Amino acid sequence: MASKPASSLPSVKISRRGARRLQDGHVWVYRSDIISANGAAPGAAVGVTDERGKFLGTALYSSASQIAIRMLSPRAVDDLTRLLRDRIQGAISYRERVVRDTDAYRVIFSEGDFLPGLIVDRYNDLLSIQALTQAMDAKPVRSVIVAELGERLKPGSIVERVDPRIRELEQLPARPSGLIQREFQGDIQPEKTSTVFTMNGVCFHYEALEGQKTGSFLDQRENYAAAARFAHGEALDVFCYQGGFALHLAQSCSKVTGVDSSRPALEVADRNATLNSREIEWVEANAFDLLRDYADAGRRCDTIVLDPPAFAKSKSTLETALRGYKELNLRALKMLRPGGILVTCCCSYHVSPAQYLDVVRISAQDVHRNLRIVENRGQAKDHPILLNVPETEYLKCIIAYVSS
Ligand code: SAH
Repeated sequence: MASKPASSLPSVKISRRGARRLQDGHVWVYRSDIISANGAAPGAAVGVTDERGKFLGTALYSSASQIAIRMLSPRAVDDLTRLLRDRIQGAISYRERVVRDTDAYRVIFSEGDFLPGLIVDRYNDLLSIQALTQAMDAKPVRSVIVAELGERLKPGSIVERVDPRIRELEQLPARPSGLIQREFQGDIQPEKTSTVFTMNGVCFHYEALEGQKTGSFLDQRENYAAAARFAHGEALDVFCYQGGFALHLAQSCSKVTGVDSSRPALEVADRNATLNSREIEWVEANAFDLLRDYADAGRRCDTIVLDPPAFAKSKSTLETALRGYKELNLRALKMLRPGGILVTCCCSYHVSPAQYLDVVRISAQDVHRNLRIVENRGQAKDHPILLNVPETEYLKCIIAYVSS
């Protein structure tokens, strides 16, 4: 006989396939596996049942996204506020253990911190938050999050960064990025939207309402330090954005050139170089063209970092993406002197670590270079990977030594 749902929340019934997915440990159920949602409100907390009515846990519901259900707990959740607070506290405690040498890090990484749909980054005294789902955007949830973060971390201010495309997908009304009304006690700095943060001893300007993602690439923080350990001689940081790798390379290289197609990014990169009293050459160019021109002109260097944007945004673009990655690695390997260091990154979730290693292997074969893998790395520890949610693992960073 079917057991009764052990929850007072609206219930959502899912198919056998959806239930199997949850049994396997995943936390998402797709819309195609929803049998009935009983008019659950957009963004509501819901009790999930299988086809026979057996209770499977508590989830957050989206009426718009293809990911209709994101599980919160295999148990009934009666006090959502308590749960949110505990999870935020858990995320903060985890960082206290694993984050070192920085006042900028990801405080909350969505599913990776059991808070699906919520991203929070800290840049020194500023917090930047992103709500990616209807549930995390709901007013009562937002105020719990803002109050808890404010109380625990005591930031100068909290800024919300809005991704218009995501709001559209979640059918949420458009809203600009901006300062969030603070609902906590502390020194009031209502207009504070910029700061300087320090990671691995390198300083960066941060403008909360400009730039890409939440403004900086925190997931590369530990890779910056690793790259700096092996980098030497003449170095090239390709896809340098605001100079994350370039500024770290400058600690150990005789000459550093950063390449990016975005002028605004290079302007910040240049301000960052001044802030650290470094001389770095910034080149505004299409990386593919520039690497080809450099390689054709016989230019050589000792260290090259490749950190392109995600070429594979979906499975359907995987083949083209792999060709793009290969092209870049080929050109870089041609330019590296024996004894040189290649730092090659890929942030497309759809390219697996094994596939990316293969791209590097085939590129090296094609240009007759022998590579040793010095380090095979991923995202920084403040972007935790959940084994049962493969989507939480996305960044690859291979550091290789060119033997000949
Ligand atoms: N390495 C950076 C992050 C790179 S993000 C860091 O650690 O902070 C990817 C960057 O690639 C963006 O700055 C974007 O402007 C740039 N970009 C995208 N397409 C490009 C192209 N074809 N040529 C050069 N730069 C490009």
